[in-house]
Amino acid sequence: MCGIVGAVAQRDVADILVEGLRRLEYRGYDSAGVAIINNKQDIQRCRRMGKVKELSDALAQAPLLGGVGIAHTRWATHGQPCEKNAHPHVSNGRVAVVHNGIIENYVALREDLIADGYVFESETDSEVIAHLVCKELKTASSLLSAVQSSVKQLTGAYGTVLMDKNNPDKLVVARSGSPLVIGLGIGENFIASDPMALLPVTRQFIFLEEGDVAEISRNHISIFNHAGQKIEREVQE
Ligand code: GLU
Repeated sequence: MCGIVGAVAQRDVADILVEGLRRLEYRGYDSAGVAIINNKQDIQRCRRMGKVKELSDALAQAPLLGGVGIAHTRWATHGQPCEKNAHPHVSNGRVAVVHNGIIENYVALREDLIADGYVFESETDSEVIAHLVCKELKTASSLLSAVQSSVKQLTGAYGTVLMDKNNPDKLVVARSGSPLVIGLGIGENFIASDPMALLPVTRQFIFLEEGDVAEISRNHISIFNHAGQKIEREVQE
């Protein structure tokens, strides 16, 4: 399981995300990527094989601007290490996902989603999450409820972060078997798989617990436990 960083802010977040990935390099990984919602409400993505430096060099050439984004360093478990298997994965240009862990029932989910017309671009288990959430969004009242009904269909381990270009001011995150921590800022908030990633931007953290799903926007955090009940979790310095 490798690295996740996400941010919801007013300022451009690409540099914060890449610095976060750099701080998670100690874990080892094979590729890195970032996706950001720009001011036209489109998802822009950049992924590279190899080191975070390859990603930051690519972003220096073609910057991604925007205040809501997710980033990942991948340690391949399903599908070879290559650019098309690097995270974030995107469904229909609308929903982007980063995922740590393994979705054990991804073959069955993938077959169902292909039958429903979803087109897979990678060999990963993770891509099913993006399509599943995109499918649930057809009937769900919010990204949060789409993620809540999607994670009920997953077996395996995940720390996952989703963004939706039609709900461009928030991230929704879910934890089961793979750690996630929310970093609290002033008028901005963050998510990561390890608080180390966020030390340049905050010292205040909420550690999510098993089964938690959370909605994170610039000024608001809502956390729900495995039973879907809204709960408060302690802020730790
Ligand atoms: N199972 C996923 C993949 O192979 C995520 C691996 C990871 O945790 O980095 O893409």
